[in-house]
Amino acid sequence: MIVHCPNCQQKAIITSRNNMNEEKTVADLYCSCTNKDCFATFVTTLGFKHYLNPPRQTTMQLAVNLLSNLSKDERLELLKGAID
Ligand SMILES: [Zn+2]
Repeated sequence: MIVHCPNCQQKAIITSRNNMNEEKTVADLYCSCTNKDCFATFVTTLGFKHYLNPPRQTTMQLAVNLLSNLSKDERLELLKGAID
């Protein structure tokens, strides 16, 4: 992950991280600019936004829940279609 300095836009290094919640989805990142003519230190925020694909376990649970609403014949029909 690259963080850029808000002053000179050069690369900065993350020197420490302070998680703001138990899930570790939001954190303050303490950073130092690597530009020798700047050397600013600053805090920026890292935050989870949304999934592009749900975690596999969630997908499996969704499939199990959907399948449990089908009759045995419907499940067999579905599996047959998936194999063909
Ligand atoms: Zn800088």
